[in-house]
Amino acid sequence: MERAAPTRETIVDLIEDIFLRRGAESYLGEQVTMSEHMLQAARLAEAEDGSDAMVAAALLHDIGHYANEFPEDALEQGIDNLHEIAGGRLLEPFFPPEVTEPVRLHVATKRYLCAVDPDYFATLSPASVHTLGLQGGPMSPEEVRGFERSPYRDLAVKVRRWDEAAKVKDRPTPPFSHYRPVLERVVRAGPA
Ligand code: FE
Repeated sequence: MERAAPTRETIVDLIEDIFLRRGAESYLGEQVTMSEHMLQAARLAEAEDGSDAMVAAALLHDIGHYANEFPEDALEQGIDNLHEIAGGRLLEPFFPPEVTEPVRLHVATKRYLCAVDPDYFATLSPASVHTLGLQGGPMSPEEVRGFERSPYRDLAVKVRRWDEAAKVKDRPTPPFSHYRPVLERVVRAGPA
């Protein structure tokens, strides 16, 4: 059945529905499910006193795995599913760039950090190393310069580091409902 396009009034319900209905799916060979991963990332953002937008970006960075046209096991099949693009596109009508840019950039940020931070690669999980190859590998010096021009690069790096740290088996987190008010505040403030 074709789903009606989300609106400002329904986007948080749609996101909640994705978490509750699909969140238990495995996360590409990680030790955590997709919702555990995204909730752990949000928790890390909160623990560092991240703004509402930063907590929302951490919580939603992988939402595009559920909002793209590729088969769910695309990455396992060796196909880049471009989930960061799909996530950015889903969120962009409702969320500000402080949320959508770290989401859209989170794969580029992995490629960036691999190029500029010699210690970063060791923090990647095996599944993340595997997808790095599909995603283009570490950035070239020219790509690094382009990335560094983004006004959202520092935010994107923070979200990416929370992403890496959010794959701990059985680490308890608050449920999605804890973050609903955060999302509602960010959506109420609007996209621009
Ligand atoms: Fe992630």
